[in-house]
Amino acid sequence: MPDLIIATPATPTLAVRGDNRRFPVHRIYCVGRNFAEHAREMGSEIDRGSPVFFMKPADAVLPGGGDQPFPSATSDLHHEVELVVALGHDADGEVPAEQAMALVLGFALGLDLTRRDLQARAKSKGLPWDTAKGFDRSAPISEIIPVAQFGPLGAQQLTLSVNGSVRQQAPLSDMVWSVPEIIAELSRLYELRAGDLIFMGTPAGVAALQPGDSYHASIDAVLQLDGQFTSR
Ligand code: MN
Repeated sequence: MPDLIIATPATPTLAVRGDNRRFPVHRIYCVGRNFAEHAREMGSEIDRGSPVFFMKPADAVLPGGGDQPFPSATSDLHHEVELVVALGHDADGEVPAEQAMALVLGFALGLDLTRRDLQARAKSKGLPWDTAKGFDRSAPISEIIPVAQFGPLGAQQLTLSVNGSVRQQAPLSDMVWSVPEIIAELSRLYELRAGDLIFMGTPAGVAALQPGDSYHASIDAVLQLDGQFTSR
């Protein structure tokens, strides 16, 4: 170990169901526009040829959700409920879609919190999305369920309620790019590693959150995530 001039920052970690070991987060990749209805509500169409990718820093995770301060610098904070894929193995270069599931340790449920006002401004000027997407606690995430316990991905309903009212709901089978296809695409762009998370994109119904709002997210009865926004 080299002598360090400051203390090593803590590695963000997530709980794994049925295991007392935690999952250390390496990178967070995110897919944009992976549900056709959501792409339309955002004023764009799906380009089947090229998924949109962006990233959040690993320490944007808020493990298990719970209370969080309402984020700074936005008056239009949007919820995006998403399936999250957790990689348990390093990729050896480019990964064909047929082999991609071998890298997956499990699945989780996350919110891709978005400063929509800053994103709209960035989009209009052709600028990067970092301040809109990659801020502190912008990624509340549930525990991870190992693949074998989750079962095959299919018709499970991804649902988000805010203050008891359903805002977003769609089956996972509505995703335009499947999990193996997204892993294959990402592996052409990045060296995928154990510890990587992939946010798979959100269905239609994104809308604003306010201080004091509470949310409940679920994938059928398999995964839950709850949280609340306190005042700044
Ligand atoms: Mn998203």
